[in-house]
Amino acid sequence: MPLNDLQDAKEQVRQAVDIVDLIGGYMALRRQGRNFVGLCPWHDDSRPSLQVNPERQSFKCYVCDIGGDVFSFIMRTEGLEFREALEMLAERAGIALTPTKNSGQPSQFDRRNLLAVMAWAEREFHQCLLHDPAAEGARQYLADRGINSESVERFHLGYSPEEWDWLLRRAQAAEFSGEVLERVGLVLRRDSGGFYDRFRGRLLFSIRDALARPIAFGGRVLPGAVSSSPERTEAKYINSPETPLFSKGTQLYALDLARDAISKEQGLVVMEGYTDVIMAHQYGINNAVAVLGTALGEKHIPLVRRFTDSITLVLDGDEAGQRRTLQILDDLLALFVAHEIDLRILSLPTGADPCDVISSQGSEAFQQRLNKSLDALDYKIDAVTKGLASAPGTHRSALAVEELLGTLARALPTSARSTSRALLREQQVLSRLSRQFVVGEGTLRSRLAAVRQDHSSHPTRRSQDQDAPTHEKATPLAAWERELVEMIIHHPNVLAELSDHLTEQDIPHDVCREIFETSLELMHAGQIPTFDQLMLASDEAAVKNLLVDCDESGREKAESDLQQRVSDLLALLAKQKQSVRHQAAVTEISQKTLNPGDEDLALSAIFQDLKRKDESQRRQAGYAPTDG
Ligand SMILES: [Zn+2]
Repeated sequence: MPLNDLQDAKEQVRQAVDIVDLIGGYMALRRQGRNFVGLCPWHDDSRPSLQVNPERQSFKCYVCDIGGDVFSFIMRTEGLEFREALEMLAERAGIALTPTKNSGQPSQFDRRNLLAVMAWAEREFHQCLLHDPAAEGARQYLADRGINSESVERFHLGYSPEEWDWLLRRAQAAEFSGEVLERVGLVLRRDSGGFYDRFRGRLLFSIRDALARPIAFGGRVLPGAVSSSPERTEAKYINSPETPLFSKGTQLYALDLARDAISKEQGLVVMEGYTDVIMAHQYGINNAVAVLGTALGEKHIPLVRRFTDSITLVLDGDEAGQRRTLQILDDLLALFVAHEIDLRILSLPTGADPCDVISSQGSEAFQQRLNKSLDALDYKIDAVTKGLASAPGTHRSALAVEELLGTLARALPTSARSTSRALLREQQVLSRLSRQFVVGEGTLRSRLAAVRQDHSSHPTRRSQDQDAPTHEKATPLAAWERELVEMIIHHPNVLAELSDHLTEQDIPHDVCREIFETSLELMHAGQIPTFDQLMLASDEAAVKNLLVDCDESGREKAESDLQQRVSDLLALLAKQKQSVRHQAAVTEISQKTLNPGDEDLALSAIFQDLKRKDESQRRQAGYAPTDG
């Protein structure tokens, strides 16, 4: 929809939906002063920490540093994109949104209609599996594999008979066109004109999105089935192609069923096959999902990040597959470290897949294996050093050390080593390599520094990408930046004066800079950048969070001498500009003089310092020391 209509729709929906009602539908809220409070759903909360402000129509948890408005709440809680959250809230408030296309008339290719086609097809296939005589073989196959009728229902399994137009005929009766079926990948176009069914004589696994809406199918041929396909060799599995609803690299099978268990059990178990996941759920391992004919990768991260920060990848016991995983493991490790997701790996014995293991040994045995899964870095070390333990000093072991230092350099790049946890991890790995290969730790350390330098002078495209999120986090919000946002929200009339002394380039913090830019845009458009206006202007969680934060923190200061605050802020700004210049000078000097050996010394000094800080913090908090 045009931008103005979108702004109108956002404003309408925001006014129509009360945040206390909305959040109150998800959890118990009670009044506390001018706010409402409830137990925060995003951390293990007993206080309660979630504050809901009815006057500002905002919410905030200071423990999680999460806050925003009705849209942010729904996006986070339901795992939705902004547009989907807007649709959901509009429906709740009974507001009709104008369709996305400019045409005015809804087209048969609208997302809503495409979803309706998929939901219809899922029902047709499912009914066929349950009742059609043609599906007898499929029912037998499921029984043989031990998949019970409850799972057939829960996973909406289906069957498409061995015919060229089984679905097409039904589509006519349901008034869905061949073109729309083609758009969602259910039929293929004939060279001679017309269409034919894509899935023929296949057991169908319904692939649903995180909101449990069918968006694609995976189809499996039945063992011993006679093929109608012109190609002699038919793939055992075929998936829907990429469609407006489905992109295989960004989706995970059964995430809709697993999402509650994921939040509760703090982790996602990623398997390779549909039947593995179905069997896992059937045996109560409810946090299992599967990748869809592709390896776990970068595009899965946004989806995964909404639900968890811990993943266990379960590998079938076939050597080719495990070799493939090993090849991409360095990439995976670097990717997950950059996004602060823990990656563990469970490798099953040769010839076994999760479905077999769970159905033959039970869920407890499988859970025990999960508990013993290896941290991905340890898994890599095990795999590379297998068979080398008794041969230190050989050429092969030298190559292995070199490969593992390369892995370490990528998994813990310089940008990730600002945390004491990462430095400890590095220390653990180097000690292990030192023991295993009988090489001095000092030697390993200086070699690692050299490998790192090599990587940073020839950065791959990938590692540049990964630096981005870490870099964003690396810039903390300065006190003067907070003061700036507080002042804009509570005293928008000083913005003109501030903008005489301050440009966007002066603001290092990305979110703060964006708020400043938006405020100027509003001002130049003749509007006042109030809290409400700024909240409506952005769909980004981080922006809204900071706005809510500064709205609250700025409230107390609202009465103090405004002119004094403005001049204090400008003085702080001048100081900040000076310190940026100093920092640049220091960086320049350090880059000129530090060789790898000196870097080693500097690093170990930092490491010792961090360790001391960690220990004193632990003593204060009364924690027992841990490994990780
Ligand atoms: Zn919280």
